[in-house]
Amino acid sequence: MGKTLLNIFLVLICLGVLLSLLPYAWILFIPAIFLYRRKFREEPLRKKKYTAALGTLSLLSLCAFGYAQASPPDVEKISISPTSNYEMDVNSEYPINIQIQPEDARPKKLELVTDNGLLTLDYSQGESSCLLKSSGKTGETNVCLKTPDGKNSNAIHISVTDKKAEAEAKKKAEEEAKKKAEKEAKQKAEAEAKQKAEEEARLQAEEEARLQAEAQAKQQAEEEARLQAEAQAKQQAEEEARLQAEAAAAQEAEAAAAQPVEQMVWLSATGEKYHRIPNCGNMNPDKARQIPLSQAEGSYEACKNCW
Ligand SMILES: [Zn+2]
Repeated sequence: MGKTLLNIFLVLICLGVLLSLLPYAWILFIPAIFLYRRKFREEPLRKKKYTAALGTLSLLSLCAFGYAQASPPDVEKISISPTSNYEMDVNSEYPINIQIQPEDARPKKLELVTDNGLLTLDYSQGESSCLLKSSGKTGETNVCLKTPDGKNSNAIHISVTDKKAEAEAKKKAEEEAKKKAEKEAKQKAEAEAKQKAEEEARLQAEEEARLQAEAQAKQQAEEEARLQAEAQAKQQAEEEARLQAEAAAAQEAEAAAAQPVEQMVWLSATGEKYHRIPNCGNMNPDKARQIPLSQAEGSYEACKNCW
């Protein structure tokens, strides 16, 4: 009984070993078929049975070998490169290389693991490369590839930027800065022009005030000079007039002195004679009048008493 169990146990072990060696068992089975055929040449029935059994096992073994050769091994390690940080534009794609160990492992599908939904994976290109595609959003992310049996590759850091939008934003900012600068320059120029105009107006006003004051002063001076000149002229004229009058008076006096003074005689109010004195005889001196002697000599007679 114990021996039987031991036999069964040994057979099971042999089967296990045989199964594990199945892909390579055909190497032994093929010569075995010929050996058995020779050994059981005299027993056609057994020969037939063994040939069929060994043939079947050989075929199985060959099939197992073929399958083992055909099916790729599992992925032991996956890595992606380049590993440096990469900055990609939002409108571009980033090709990355895939290295798989063992080299003949062939993952049918790879999954992209990202921090966010910035990138998608295009694995249709080939087994040793893939494309990372932008989803149209910008930002930063760490990405790695994941095999169907859960092995992760190394991670790489990718920044997604929108260069066109950034360039436009930069251009816009520059244009705004330029406009602002121009506006400020214009305002400054205007303020300076205004200040200058005010300064000029002030200077002009001062100049005008100065000119006016000068003109006024000049006018005043002229007026004063004129008044002074007039006063002087008047004084001079007066002086001249005075001198002239004096001279005339002097001349007159001189002329009077030069002419012999005609002797005056007195006439009574009714008398027909002229007298030397106004109270000669019965004459009323209050009614007596004087006339020159030459005039009296033509019309009157001289008084015998006083003449
Ligand atoms: Zn007389």
